[in-house]
Amino acid sequence: MDPATLPRIDPDTLRADFPALSTHVYDTTVAYLDNAATAQKPRAVIDRISRYYESENANVHRGVHAMSQVATNAYEGARAGIGAFLGVDDVGEIVFTRGTTEAINLVASSWGRLHLHPGANVVVTEMEHHSNIVPWQLICQETGASLRVVRVTDEGEIDYEDYERALAEGAALVSIVHVSNTLGTINPVERMIDDAHGLGVPVLVDGAQAVPHGPVDVKALGCDFYCFSSHKLFGPTGFGVLYGRRELLESMPPWQGGGDMIEEVDFDGTTYNHLPHKFEAGTPHIAGAIGLAAAIAYVRGVGFDTIQQVEADLLAYTVERLGDIGGIRFVGTARRKTSVVSFLVGETHPYDVGSILDRLGVAVRTGHHCTQPLMKRLGIPGTVRASMSFYNTRGDIDRLAEGVERAAAMLS
Ligand code: PMP
Repeated sequence: MDPATLPRIDPDTLRADFPALSTHVYDTTVAYLDNAATAQKPRAVIDRISRYYESENANVHRGVHAMSQVATNAYEGARAGIGAFLGVDDVGEIVFTRGTTEAINLVASSWGRLHLHPGANVVVTEMEHHSNIVPWQLICQETGASLRVVRVTDEGEIDYEDYERALAEGAALVSIVHVSNTLGTINPVERMIDDAHGLGVPVLVDGAQAVPHGPVDVKALGCDFYCFSSHKLFGPTGFGVLYGRRELLESMPPWQGGGDMIEEVDFDGTTYNHLPHKFEAGTPHIAGAIGLAAAIAYVRGVGFDTIQQVEADLLAYTVERLGDIGGIRFVGTARRKTSVVSFLVGETHPYDVGSILDRLGVAVRTGHHCTQPLMKRLGIPGTVRASMSFYNTRGDIDRLAEGVERAAAMLS
């Protein structure tokens, strides 16, 4: 893409919104290319969280006093904003969690205990993050159900025929990643949901790597559950969201007990709070919700049109620059991708390349990226992964490419 056709945002102004992008590592400014692990936070988010702790801090839901009401309004207001971001009007369908991992564990424990049994299959794919594998393994061990793993092609796409076979064999639930954190592949989740629903099979979508890169409307998708983590969407860590269709959430038992999730407690029995509070035991991460809502407002301000245009340019430029270096093997060449580039440099170990890049101030991820089964499927120990966000520049990619070239020369 010709940089002249890029949207009219001033990259320097935009980068100035993210203080951590000015961090010095060793003797240089960081080139932060590890956004799939966690994204940096704009000043608007940092300030909003500070304001909450400076002048609004109180526990939610329980207080009659003014500060508690301010905190409750901000917290529940955040839920409405987060719901709107996903295309959801009914705030009862927006459950707050510690992140994607906890959201999947919640569904596996609560829905799984209700519906899984010997002979039932949970369908996942070879490209799942460990957090969409291990919770299912645990509940399968407990209930006698099985995992049915759909194959991934050498290019890093779902083998759709194998998916259709898995559905035809009989599935209790499909649990799939929307965008692969290791490969960047954007999976055809619309079609996968339609095909599963055609057989009456509910679908959970792990959207951890999707929401930072494009609009997601869970009602248009029609999925039954959708989850993501705040910290990859420029919000605080330790916070995330589970969307669940009301009908399903209503039918599911609570998974953790404690304050706030109850209506009435008696030693003879307890009744539970209405949705979404039935699934939110204990004092929640109030600043997490407020911070995520601020992050979403920031993202909306930049706009996904701009984000997608900038990231498409960065993706193409990264592939071009790295492709010019001899001996690079790209891992994950799906037709539809986000701005994630995984690669190997000749016969070198990803860790060695990552260490050399680190000394040059280029922050990338190396290793299996919590997708060990995918690494085994592809027959590699891991990859070097550069993951770009809209605040990255071609200059960051130039530094990456120069560093990779140096690493290739030093390690060969
Ligand atoms: N799924 C995917 C695709 C991810 O990339 C990640 C984070 N790397 C997770 C799930 C887990 O997210 P968290 O650690 O924030 O719970």
